[in-house]
Amino acid sequence: MPLLCFLLDDTWECMNRRLATIKIKGQLERQQLRPAAQLAALALLAAAFGVVVAWRAPGLSLQARDALVRTRGVLVAPDDMVIVAIDEASIARFGRFPWSRAVLANTLDKLAAAQPRAIALDVLFSEATNEKDDAALAAAIKRAGNVIVAAQLVNQNEERGERRATWLHPQSAFAQAAAGIGHVNLALDRDGVARTILLRQIDDAAQAYWTMAIETTRVGAGLTSADLRETPEAVNIGARVIPVQFDSVNLSVAATNDAPVETVRAARLAIDYGGPAGAFAVQTISVTDVLDGKFVAERLRGKYVLIGATAALGDRVVSPFTRAESADGNQNAAPLAGVEVLAHALNTILRARFYREASDGQAFWLAVLMAALTVGALTLAQGRFAGLQQLGAIAALLFGVWLTAYFAFVHWLIVLPVVPMLAACGATVPLVLLRRTLLASGQLDARLAELTNDNGAVLPSSVVILPSQLRPQPAALIARLSGAHAVAILARTPSGYRLLSDYGASLAGAESEPIALPHAPCASVGEALARPSAATEYFETGVPRGMFLRAATLKLEAAGTDLGALLVAFNAAEPPAVATLQLCRELATHYVALLSHDAGQAEGRGWLWRWLPHSLANKGQQLAQLQQRFLRRAGFVNRALHSMEDGLLVCGVDGFIAFANPRAAQIFGLSATALQGQELFDLTGLAQPASANELRDVLTRLLIERAPVEREITIGEAPPRYYCLRLAAVCEGIEQTGAVTGLVATLSDITRQRELQQMKNDVMALVTHELRTPLTAIQGMSEVLAQHEFTAAQQREMHQAINDEAKRLARMIDEYLNVARLEAGAQPLRRETVRVTTLLERTLLLLEPLARARGLRLVRRFAPNLPQLLGDADLLGRAVSNLVTNAIKYSEADGEVVIETGTTANELFIKVSDQGCGIAADELERIFEKFYRVPRIEESDAPGTGLGLPFVREVAELHGGRVTVASESGIGSVFTIRLPLNDAIEKKS
Ligand code: ADP
Repeated sequence: MPLLCFLLDDTWECMNRRLATIKIKGQLERQQLRPAAQLAALALLAAAFGVVVAWRAPGLSLQARDALVRTRGVLVAPDDMVIVAIDEASIARFGRFPWSRAVLANTLDKLAAAQPRAIALDVLFSEATNEKDDAALAAAIKRAGNVIVAAQLVNQNEERGERRATWLHPQSAFAQAAAGIGHVNLALDRDGVARTILLRQIDDAAQAYWTMAIETTRVGAGLTSADLRETPEAVNIGARVIPVQFDSVNLSVAATNDAPVETVRAARLAIDYGGPAGAFAVQTISVTDVLDGKFVAERLRGKYVLIGATAALGDRVVSPFTRAESADGNQNAAPLAGVEVLAHALNTILRARFYREASDGQAFWLAVLMAALTVGALTLAQGRFAGLQQLGAIAALLFGVWLTAYFAFVHWLIVLPVVPMLAACGATVPLVLLRRTLLASGQLDARLAELTNDNGAVLPSSVVILPSQLRPQPAALIARLSGAHAVAILARTPSGYRLLSDYGASLAGAESEPIALPHAPCASVGEALARPSAATEYFETGVPRGMFLRAATLKLEAAGTDLGALLVAFNAAEPPAVATLQLCRELATHYVALLSHDAGQAEGRGWLWRWLPHSLANKGQQLAQLQQRFLRRAGFVNRALHSMEDGLLVCGVDGFIAFANPRAAQIFGLSATALQGQELFDLTGLAQPASANELRDVLTRLLIERAPVEREITIGEAPPRYYCLRLAAVCEGIEQTGAVTGLVATLSDITRQRELQQMKNDVMALVTHELRTPLTAIQGMSEVLAQHEFTAAQQREMHQAINDEAKRLARMIDEYLNVARLEAGAQPLRRETVRVTTLLERTLLLLEPLARARGLRLVRRFAPNLPQLLGDADLLGRAVSNLVTNAIKYSEADGEVVIETGTTANELFIKVSDQGCGIAADELERIFEKFYRVPRIEESDAPGTGLGLPFVREVAELHGGRVTVASESGIGSVFTIRLPLNDAIEKKS
């Protein structure tokens, strides 16, 4: 029954396996098709993320740029620029600012005398002071001819509450005297760092001024205002082109007085700061030194002179370097003076140190490149220590980005979009890991599904299942077994029943689920048969007319769970037997249990979720189901191996046993564990020196020809048992063509077959040889009698001879049948309590005349108080009679035959000793063979069949005992029957 269930199980699974293989194949193909596309999408996603990060957090890009500036470090201060500083020393000398403008006029004169290229006066002169001083300064400006004066745009609160951007113009006298007016507004980024300047500022009255750096450059180049032109991408100062960026990002711009200034499409120039505050220290001269003439005029010739405050009074701004200078994290540790910013800005223009920034599109594609490189690095860094390798690869990539950014910044003045690139790299790592996890999870699902559906390896089946047989038809089988006309197997669902298999007729309402049954199914077969319903209540069509059909409904349950119902419609006149119906219920129960188990696995998922791997919980569930199934299978295989009638041994190629089933252990008389580690070839006698060639042949056939080997072996003695040893090699691979990994040996007991074969041989020997001799004699004598004339006495003698031969023939047949019957087990032992002494007395009484006729004495030496035996008195008596007859037959006259009884620890013996001819040692082995007679001249007159001793041995063995012999030629023989003393005399198996 269980085997049948498993065959069903196997068939069903085979079908499932094929369906699942198709599904899995499709799934795997889809999975293989898309990795490139998936990785590309992933890189694009990561790049987009990088760009969004750069957009949403512009500060990051600014910080990155500052970091590049700081990494590059301080540039050598240009020598075509001199700062004339209104420093602490000047303040100390001329008092707090504003000074008398005469001082500045004086300074200007001194400077102009040195013939500088241009003089930028980074000091606001919007208010009038005393006329004389103002006139002196205006005159000095005019005299110098190349002075640029400052203007500043400020927000002013009007009376109406409106804010207006208006210029603090230089006084008109200065403005007219100057070669140019430049604005000194600084554009601060949101974090307060002045990274750019707005090249042109405009007030609400549409009055525009170029920044002082531009104006200084123009004046220095001897160009007029008309030479300053604005193009969409640049500002041209004569032939000099200054590329500019127009505000497109949300950078708020503030004036230095902290009041926000609104500007429209402001053209910006990024200042290339050559160093922190004091970077121009070597090029700085104090106003006091100028006035005192303590400077080399040569140093100023043809140079740009920038006059401004370095003392703590004017505008001070934060530069990218400021942060680096502050050890205590104070960003305003050493801010730059306005004039220094002007110097850096001028230097930027003069040295054409214009940085190019990547556009958003370029930034995106660079981020894509970075993401792709990250994907590549993560893909290539596999194998041992993959985690460490990948970390290393990512670190190398990041370092590479920074290095590239650094070189691009320093050598080509290109600002790479470091933030989107790094962010893309950072986003790629988790995305790749996520993809890997999903992929691994999906693959795990696929493997699990494969395992769930393809566990044929656990229960290998040699049966080839044809596609038409894939669908098991338990209903048909049940109908065949029970003789039912219609059968339906239903599975229990939460709301009713579901039809699984039907036969003969269609179930009422089967097309709509859940199916409702008119009556609750019966729990017991007896009840179901006693109270059957009309079949028409259950079955709609296909019910044969004119037949009084009844339907029995049986509940299907396992371990207390309601699994479903079995409906069987049968002819009321011929109901199925209870036992048959029970068998049918077993079949249906197993089938339903199997299907409900599989239905759980084939649970459908929504289209969206099908693309995603199963959850961990689901995997755990699947694993648990698999484990159960494997355990079930393992249990089944184990039970199958244990219940095998044949011995099974599994061993390595070297013959060392790794597994033995209980039957094998029983055959070798060892425990299964003791058998493990033993050598198969030793145990089976193939490794004996005499059979070295045989072992070689066997192994050649197994390992080289890969063919099975069959040998007959003998195990044990007294009595030996015969086995057919079948050896086969276990090879790797489904086709069994790979390397040989072990050997499997089965041992089938063929003792019985051998005995039967022996019996056949015996009969043949009896007929062809033993019976022929007397028959030929009878035939010869009867022919002679018929053809010749004989005297009456001669005729009598010949008749007597014929009669003797016929009797011998009859005796031989009788004796042979006696032995054959015993051997074949055809004559069962009639067990009874046997008093051995009485039995012997009776036997000897019958033999007494024979002994006397031969001139022999029968001497009895019976032990007193012999225990009783449980045995067949008749057989035992005949056995003893055989031995005593032999002793008489093979003894000379005047001797004695001693019959002795006694016991040892666990045996009772009956010993028959004579002083006859004895038996040669080399004959002793053969005298128990059937028909064997010792060829002796003196025996020729002793009638015999050679079947006496085989009979004795058979009787002794049937009683669980044995017969032994000790004999010496010319001295005599001793035959002993030894019988076990325990009550239960075993029947010979
Ligand atoms: P048989 O019918 O020839 O006696 P058995 O099977 O009884 O057949 O004996 C087989 C042979 O064993 C005999 O032929 C005989 O040679 C030898 N044998 C048996 N018993 C004795 C004995 N007591 N003394 C000498 N030889 C014996």
